[in-house]
Amino acid sequence: MLELKMFINGEWKPAKSDQMNIVINPATQEVIANAPRASKEETEEAIEAAQAAFVSGVWSGLTTHDRAQYLNKIADKIEERYDELVELEVMDNGKLKAEAEFDVADAATCFRYYAGLILAPEGETYQVPENVQALVVREPVGVAGLIVPWNFPLLMSVWKIAPALAAGNTIVYKPAEATPISAMKLVEIIEEVGIPKGVMNLVMGKGSIVGQTIAESKDVDVVSFTGSTEVGREIMKAASGNLKKISLELGGKSPNIIFADADFETAVDYALFGIFFGAGQVCSSGSRVLVEESIYDQFVERYVERAKQIKVGPGMAEDSQVGAIASEQQMNAILNYIEIGQQEGATLALGGNRLMTNGLDKGFFIEPTVFTNVTSNMRIVQEEIFGPVVTIQKFKDEAEAIQLANDTDFGLAGAVFSGDGAKALRVIKRVRAGITWVNSYHPTYVEAPWGGYKQSGIGRSLGKYGLEDFQEIKQININLDVHPVGWFPN
Ligand code: NAD
Repeated sequence: MLELKMFINGEWKPAKSDQMNIVINPATQEVIANAPRASKEETEEAIEAAQAAFVSGVWSGLTTHDRAQYLNKIADKIEERYDELVELEVMDNGKLKAEAEFDVADAATCFRYYAGLILAPEGETYQVPENVQALVVREPVGVAGLIVPWNFPLLMSVWKIAPALAAGNTIVYKPAEATPISAMKLVEIIEEVGIPKGVMNLVMGKGSIVGQTIAESKDVDVVSFTGSTEVGREIMKAASGNLKKISLELGGKSPNIIFADADFETAVDYALFGIFFGAGQVCSSGSRVLVEESIYDQFVERYVERAKQIKVGPGMAEDSQVGAIASEQQMNAILNYIEIGQQEGATLALGGNRLMTNGLDKGFFIEPTVFTNVTSNMRIVQEEIFGPVVTIQKFKDEAEAIQLANDTDFGLAGAVFSGDGAKALRVIKRVRAGITWVNSYHPTYVEAPWGGYKQSGIGRSLGKYGLEDFQEIKQININLDVHPVGWFPN
């Protein structure tokens, strides 16, 4: 069993309180780690350390070459510890080994990408009016508070840590309580490459204490949060105290629109992948499948037939295709939504139960679940379930497909399947979402912006946009003709 520690001002520290957070493997319910639960004071200590490190210029004062070298070394070490990180992520979160492999590889890619990006030419100069030379420069924001969820514990952290460090900020980082293990391993790596003391701080504990303290602190200059829309709203309120910069990556209820002229088997396949990848615990999951009425019955029949064959099991088992639900609390929340769907009158076409046979009774597993005959006003169509539960809804034409696709408070992701390229582009352009696909679902690249419209968030992760979240932009005006301004005659 692992005894996790926090990292504050360059030192590994246990929590002062003996109230530990017991971390379990959701596939077996074995206790795998003890994690500290920091107090408000311990969180403030970390913020103070980050602030002192920022003010000292020990990190922001380095050349971009030097910072890029550190980031590349972090990427090297992630790759060296690939197997260990994969295994820990599976144990902690319950996801499939293949999913964790993608996360760890992508984490290294993300550090390398930002190492490269800060070396690219940047900056603007203007000469307006003629006697002034104006420069536009980018500077770090200061202390970055990073708060992450449990669904991609390592990757969501790296999507913030890599650009925040690249831009020259110092960090206070809080992982989710359910999944703190890879956070400690990542910070070990960051320590090993020799990042100066106080630049990287890790605090573990409750959202309502550690997260809230970070979001409220007047000494934190930017908070970057990934999690639920509900907590996102709290972060926004808390951040208003010192009007800190915020970046919010929140929930979704994303539409996957299938037209009759789509390649049928491709559409079925991606519609399965869209929701059951990651056991549906993915913010961008295609949880609402919208199907043109002329192929609706045929689609549902084939979809259910395919979904029935999906093998649910422990993440490390070679034949598992969908892993565990990350916590008992999340499993109960999903089962509750399945109950609600039935009460609302939707047809449960497949699944709906916790899986308790073949050794799965020790962990938290839910069958792939399909609801049909749903209407837009149902809670299972409007609210984020965040589990392996999909609704399949019928539309009659392009206009109705667009109307149904946009009929939620969310706007994170969406996809269109069609053999008609012009129609697919026409429709995807009308889907109010930040991450979209045509004849595909889920793949994304570190170069491309990630984030949502409407109540799915504010700001964008990844790409050059992800760096901008952690930068201030300054104009410097240089007078080329030095004499008194003469506004007040003397
Ligand atoms: P959550 O909102 O419950 O928690 C996220 C983090 O916030 C955790 O570290 C938690 O401890 C902390 N937190 C909780 N209350 C807080 C408070 N009052 N102040 C500050 N911090 C607080 O989310 P979750 O259940 O861990 O994750 C699932 C959610 O994350 C889903 O809604 C999912 O869609 C979303 N998500 C979004 C993206 C995206 O890129 N848009 C990616 C992954 C997950």
